Amino acid sequence: MQPINHATITTSGVVRPTLVEVNLDRLEENYRAIQAKVAPAKVMPILKANAYGHGMVEVAKKMVSLGAEYFGVAVLEEGIFLREQGIQTPVLVLGGILGNQVPLFLKYGLTLTASSVEKLDQVEQAAQALGVEAKVHLKIDTGMERIGVHYYNAESLLDASLKCKHVQIEGIFSHFANADAADLTHARLQLERFHEVLRFYERRSLPAPTRHMANSAAILQLPESSFDLVRPGILLYGVYPSPECQPSVQVQPALSWKSHVVYFKVVLPGHPVGYGSTWESDHMVRMVTIPVGYGDGYFRSMSNKAQVIIHGKKYPVVGRIAMDQIMVNIEWDSAYNDDPVILIGSDGEQVITCEDLAAWAGTIPYEILTNINTRVPRLYIETSHL
Ligand SMILES: *Cc1c(COP(=O)(O)O)cnc(C)c1O
Repeated sequence: MQPINHATITTSGVVRPTLVEVNLDRLEENYRAIQAKVAPAKVMPILKANAYGHGMVEVAKKMVSLGAEYFGVAVLEEGIFLREQGIQTPVLVLGGILGNQVPLFLKYGLTLTASSVEKLDQVEQAAQALGVEAKVHLKIDTGMERIGVHYYNAESLLDASLKCKHVQIEGIFSHFANADAADLTHARLQLERFHEVLRFYERRSLPAPTRHMANSAAILQLPESSFDLVRPGILLYGVYPSPECQPSVQVQPALSWKSHVVYFKVVLPGHPVGYGSTWESDHMVRMVTIPVGYGDGYFRSMSNKAQVIIHGKKYPVVGRIAMDQIMVNIEWDSAYNDDPVILIGSDGEQVITCEDLAAWAGTIPYEILTNINTRVPRLYIETSHL
């Protein structure tokens, strides 16, 4: 393994003892597994929210090297960031747009999502004014009630799109609300509604633009929704969207979260630990302090629930999780300053997944990954030849 250090926070070249390690080989394997599953449909890696915490630029570069032809992000600023970092691949901004943002989309060559006739008009006018051709994907709401024109009103938007002179209608898409459920009734209804909208092109004997609908869950559970392109986020990073989801593509987590012991002490009975004194032992224990906390995105709601791995063994986090530190009860085992601690990842037989953290925090793996913040440096590892 060859480490490539892109850490954001270092002290005289030494990386912070709490860090995220991203395995780019795993990302490659996951990308290829998804590609094999959905072919001939293409794969649009979703890079929003700092690539689900994995680091947007490094993930984008890896995906470019694997031949990814399109990226998806949520907001304009993410697209601009990719451009400023030298990524030239087409980027679709999936979220809603405001009129005053349109010139920036065009300046940076980003693809817009148009979800109403009014938004499409704004794009048409801005493109005309700037003398460029805008690229647009039409967004159809088939049952999410978020952005997008309702499937039952879509005809007016599609009609309007045929009349645009300065906008290339490159794609048309929708998004599932329940593709990660065990019961796929609603997802199938959404898929049928999308097909109904697409018949607009058939009826006119027009070729449909690039059609896409599948998120990670639909890639796994609704292969018939792959169309021309799929939009995997969490699956690319090696995590399944929900426990109910059929794991029909084998992927492995690319992200590990590690730290090191910074302090050791013996705690006597009757001496409670941490803010609020929420935990105390009835016998003498050894306690280590780890320099990570909710200020890094290690959820405070996991207090007195989370576990970490030290020397291949799991130990409980005791007392309240503080902004910058946690305490771990190692009973009468040994651990020394600088010994490695696994927060997410594996050591020997033991594994802690982001699903485990999600269960302790009362949330979903998506939120665990996207909350690991910029105070935690990212370290990238990759073998030269897989
Ligand atoms: C976030 C997002 C995705 C990816 O979702 P996953 O569940 O992570 O695969 C796909 N499409 C749209 C529109 C999104 O907002």
